Amino acid sequence: MQLTFHGAAECVTGSCFLLDTGKMRILVDCGLFQGSKEIRQRNYGHFPFSPQTIDLVLLTHAHIDHSGLIPKLVKEGFSGPILGTGCTVDLCHVLLPDSGSIQETEVQRKNRKAQRAGKPLVEPIYTMDDAYACLNQFRPVRYNQDIILGDGVRCRFRDAGHILGSALVEVWVREPGGETKIVFSGDLGNKNKPFVRDPEYVEEADYIVLESTYGDRVHQEDYAGSRERLKEVVWSTYRKGGNLLIPAFAVERTQELLYDLFAFTRAGEMPPMQIWLDSPLATAVTNIFGDHPHCFDDEASGMIACGIDPLGLPQLNHALTVEESKMLNQSPGGNIIIAGSGMCDAGRIRHHLKHNLWRPEATVLLVGYQAEGTLGRLLLNGAEKVRLFGEEIVVRADVVSVNGYSAHADQKMLREWVGALRRPPRQVFLVHGEQRAQLALRQVLAEIGVAARIPAWQETVRLEPGRKDEERIWQLLSGLHGRTARYLKANPDPDAYRQVLERLSALDEFLAAGGGRRG
Ligand SMILES: [Zn+2]
Ligand SMILES: [Zn+2]
Repeated sequence: MQLTFHGAAECVTGSCFLLDTGKMRILVDCGLFQGSKEIRQRNYGHFPFSPQTIDLVLLTHAHIDHSGLIPKLVKEGFSGPILGTGCTVDLCHVLLPDSGSIQETEVQRKNRKAQRAGKPLVEPIYTMDDAYACLNQFRPVRYNQDIILGDGVRCRFRDAGHILGSALVEVWVREPGGETKIVFSGDLGNKNKPFVRDPEYVEEADYIVLESTYGDRVHQEDYAGSRERLKEVVWSTYRKGGNLLIPAFAVERTQELLYDLFAFTRAGEMPPMQIWLDSPLATAVTNIFGDHPHCFDDEASGMIACGIDPLGLPQLNHALTVEESKMLNQSPGGNIIIAGSGMCDAGRIRHHLKHNLWRPEATVLLVGYQAEGTLGRLLLNGAEKVRLFGEEIVVRADVVSVNGYSAHADQKMLREWVGALRRPPRQVFLVHGEQRAQLALRQVLAEIGVAARIPAWQETVRLEPGRKDEERIWQLLSGLHGRTARYLKANPDPDAYRQVLERLSALDEFLAAGGGRRG
């Protein structure tokens, strides 16, 4: 059995792992590469494998860096099912067409430049229509349901606590000689976050493909701390008289912010500011959240049970049209504007940044991960000037960042999650992280006796059969031993009892001494 790391290897985005059991070819995630120009270039051209040969896709969650190349996969010939939780499937129904539309717009812009420069034109990675076409292949699955994928291969989705609907996927593969369990962590969440439940722990694994986004950091601030700081920033911006810009991912982060702003409002702790959700996508996602209350954690479920919509903020305005969004640019203050993209590398937030970054009374609040090469990372690093729409803009606004909203487990949580296994896995593969984070996490895991390695992009590794059959026989026999004893006790036949017991004990001893094992 082989595993190839086609994405999120030595980088954070483009999650894509190909598990080839010899009988089945399973793709876990098929994400878009995001970030620097060089990384994004990987989205173009053909896949390094033939999409027709893939039997099925297991999708951990709806984020574009995990799902964003599925339309291209289908366009290039993949015709199998795509399995994800019901919430993930619904989210993909809005996120993928949106991504298709972004691809089209980006290429139009590129081609206008190319035409002027007399260079050859490029095709979009996929279009909105391609994205709609792939949606027919999505199949919703439930958490904790055993799913037979094929001969000797089964899987189970469990809550990863990262965004609503997110999953970690356990895959069992039976081969001659034994069964191997591979766990794909997807993106693992933090504990005590609004809406989402805490990540589930796995009991056993032979191999783990583990995310490492924050492998080198321990979140200094928990969610409760960040929530307090959000309140402070809202008030300080109100007192300065400027606008508060919050670049936020349309999925999860936006809803968490709405949830908290609503909580402040209910507590009478909000200044009179207008709140704008300037993202039709985030509006659509918020509606999908409302359709999946069964995925909510206890607190949010409790509110719904009491007839409170946890996202039903009364002073919320939705800027759905471009005109409404532009009108906001004219307003010098008094607004809280939540807009995408979360890393400021695209979307309406860039217009708001252009109109506000130079104003000292404005504040930019960064609430999410800022990848290398993005405008968000530049602002986080304290850039004094940035370029937006070909114009140089001076940064005079306050730039504040909080990380308690992070949807990713930090080093401490990752260590705890791996450490919770009953026995160390044979090997952990660190993915979905920048080099520094991966090296630090590898070190931390070594301290708890767990061997981790950092696979290179496109690297293929061989997975040895995990639990040997002999080991399994031993376990079964020890169970049988007890059952046989109970049976004989209920049906006393002293002779049979003695004989069976003698034989089983001998076999137990033989196996316990390591007999029957091959290497
Ligand atoms: Zn994610
Ligand atoms: Zn991710």
